[in-house]
Amino acid sequence: MLATLRSIAESVSQQANLDSALACFVTMVKEAMQTQCCSIYFADYSQDNFVLMATEGLNPDAVGKFRIGFTEGLVGLVAQREEAINIAFAKSHPRFKLSPEVNEEGYNAFLSVPVVHQKKVLGVIVVQQKMARVFSQDEESFLITLSAQLASQLAHAEIKEVLRQDESSHQTSVLKGVSSAPGISIGHAFVVIPKVNFKSIELEKESDVNEQRRLFTQAVAATRKEFNTLSMTLSDSIPHEALAVFDVYQQLLDAKSLGHNVEMELQQGWCAKSALKIVIERLIAQFNAMQDPYIKERAVDVKDIGLRVLHHLVNTEFAIKDYPPNTILIAHTLTPAMLAEVPNDRLVGVVSINGSANSHASILTRAMGVPAIWGIEDIPLLQLNSKPMILDAFSGRLYISPSQMLIDEYTELQHQDNLLNNRFLAEQNFTAVTLDGEHISLLLNAGLELNTQQNSAHICDGVGLYRTEAWFMQKGQFPSQSEQETWYREVLNSYYPNPVVMRTLDIGGDKVLDYFNITEENPFLGWRGIRISLDHPELFLDQLKAMLKANIGLGNLKIMLPMISGSEEVDESLALFEQAYFELNEQYPEQTIERPDIGIMLEVPSSVFMLADWSKKVDFCSVGSNDLTQYLLAVDRSNARVAELFNPYHPAVLRVLNNVARECQQYELPFSLCGELGGDPEGAILLIAMGYRRLSMNLSSLNKVKWVLRRLHVSEMEALLKECLAQSSAKQVLRLTRSFMIEHELGNLFYTPK
Ligand code: PEP
Ligand code: MG
Repeated sequence: MLATLRSIAESVSQQANLDSALACFVTMVKEAMQTQCCSIYFADYSQDNFVLMATEGLNPDAVGKFRIGFTEGLVGLVAQREEAINIAFAKSHPRFKLSPEVNEEGYNAFLSVPVVHQKKVLGVIVVQQKMARVFSQDEESFLITLSAQLASQLAHAEIKEVLRQDESSHQTSVLKGVSSAPGISIGHAFVVIPKVNFKSIELEKESDVNEQRRLFTQAVAATRKEFNTLSMTLSDSIPHEALAVFDVYQQLLDAKSLGHNVEMELQQGWCAKSALKIVIERLIAQFNAMQDPYIKERAVDVKDIGLRVLHHLVNTEFAIKDYPPNTILIAHTLTPAMLAEVPNDRLVGVVSINGSANSHASILTRAMGVPAIWGIEDIPLLQLNSKPMILDAFSGRLYISPSQMLIDEYTELQHQDNLLNNRFLAEQNFTAVTLDGEHISLLLNAGLELNTQQNSAHICDGVGLYRTEAWFMQKGQFPSQSEQETWYREVLNSYYPNPVVMRTLDIGGDKVLDYFNITEENPFLGWRGIRISLDHPELFLDQLKAMLKANIGLGNLKIMLPMISGSEEVDESLALFEQAYFELNEQYPEQTIERPDIGIMLEVPSSVFMLADWSKKVDFCSVGSNDLTQYLLAVDRSNARVAELFNPYHPAVLRVLNNVARECQQYELPFSLCGELGGDPEGAILLIAMGYRRLSMNLSSLNKVKWVLRRLHVSEMEALLKECLAQSSAKQVLRLTRSFMIEHELGNLFYTPK
């Protein structure tokens, strides 16, 4: 069964367009299930009905024409119930509806399953036959598995088709994602070339066969050169016989084998990439089908060679491309490094398939004030390259090839948004004092963006979180103590005399160092933050000493420890700090080395139950609401699939944050919050009501939050919090906070254009 499932999925994915994919699907399913009819219907939400998209067994003339309402017949019932229906006599079912136009009168047995993708019914698959029969449980499961496997494939195929049609019809198409940095951008797509693989290659035809042949020959020549260099480099270090593999590779590249096959596909009109894809996938399938394990292994070689040639083909295509003036950067998985490569004045928007609003790359886009959305459909991205588009990162929509009318509309909305931002900017030099005179310290989250934000020093009360790891990530190796010292001093100087809370290295999770390999099944629950520092005291001591030395003569440093989960970690960290402090004093007896405050981050749920103990040991704490939410709700903060579940307004999170404030007040432990929640005006209001008086956030949030706080009374926030804490879902909480904002004439902050 598994082999059949695989071969159906593979064959469908190799079809050039949606129609042939569906035709292939129904034919193969009918055959695999040894039945007489298989059909697939697609939901058309614009007309509330299903349209017959492909069939093997019903009237072929009805394909694309026959429609059945969402609430009609057995097809409608399968979709409504979102579960399989398996009956021997379809006609005896009360919901059966005879549709003479498809010629299904002769069929009795009926098995049907819905095709569901991301909670949405995309269509319905139906299998029928004349002889009455209840399909077995195994057959039912087979069809369900197939439907689940193919749901995303069909969703992509559908989107690809829409995109293809756009090209010819000049229609706008829309992809949906989750907003992670609000705003609007209008520009052109620049797709960061993903690691090329054959899956990402769309089958396309090209009329100029000579040009495609030239591209292919050029790519083969480049691959040959690569093999020659490789074999020469390795000739001293590996046995002579092993080098023979390169001869085999060179032979495979010969005109007689690969070249000949590709040429035949080029003659069929396929472009070079498509021709290569077709040939390589066919060869891999042939090798895989062999019994001999040695020959089977050759599939790996063929794939390797194919990918190398493909790489050269794609590179030539992209080598000449430059970032357009208004770049909307599109990636499969966006990384901070990709962002760093685009010249600042060209980047206007960011779109990524993977990741979510709380991944570090996403936090960085917010810090940079660049509109971004995450979690769009996993389509072959190269298809989007260079297309004009509008990114509406308020509502999480990406409009591809927008009409002039839409561009005009969004240009106006962009203008409105700028006006609002100017109002925030106009008050940026004022202090954050509420209408009833409460001063709130607004601090900056810095570090992710490598350039220190000196010009921001006067608008904040210091830095509440300096993430040191970004700099470690940029370097090709661990920085030396003196390099670190110079760097930290620059930061401390920039904000002097205001405090700067420097966090010790917090790598692991989604922050990896190229030169320090951590490969784990479950990185967010693995070797992260303080765990690494304590396992590598030499690195930790270096960092602590660099911070202490950088602070000489300034005195505005505070040190914060990430990911603390147990008392041993607090004790060991403090002991290492003492060691660093002692050793430095010994080394520089003539210098006055100040003893900075040492604090911990509250990010791991266990930490919030330890405040009574730890308040005696440390000087302050700061809630990392990003990780605290992730660990409290067991939702990976970078996984787009569960992004909707990551919600710091979940009553459980709010109650924990409230308890932290109570306990810190009780134990007289200074506390603050430095997760993304504090930079959200609604979050900031609730936190202030809980008693938080120090909130740390990124630069683009700071002005907005300041502007909001200056228009409210703490007593009003407290009344709101009381109600929110009594709710049982995040949705209810957000409904209350939203009404509160509207009542206080702050509704225009949530102005969502569409
Ligand atoms: C947090 O977890 O809330 C936090 C501020 O740290 P980071 O986002 O860097 O993990
Ligand atoms: Mg954290």
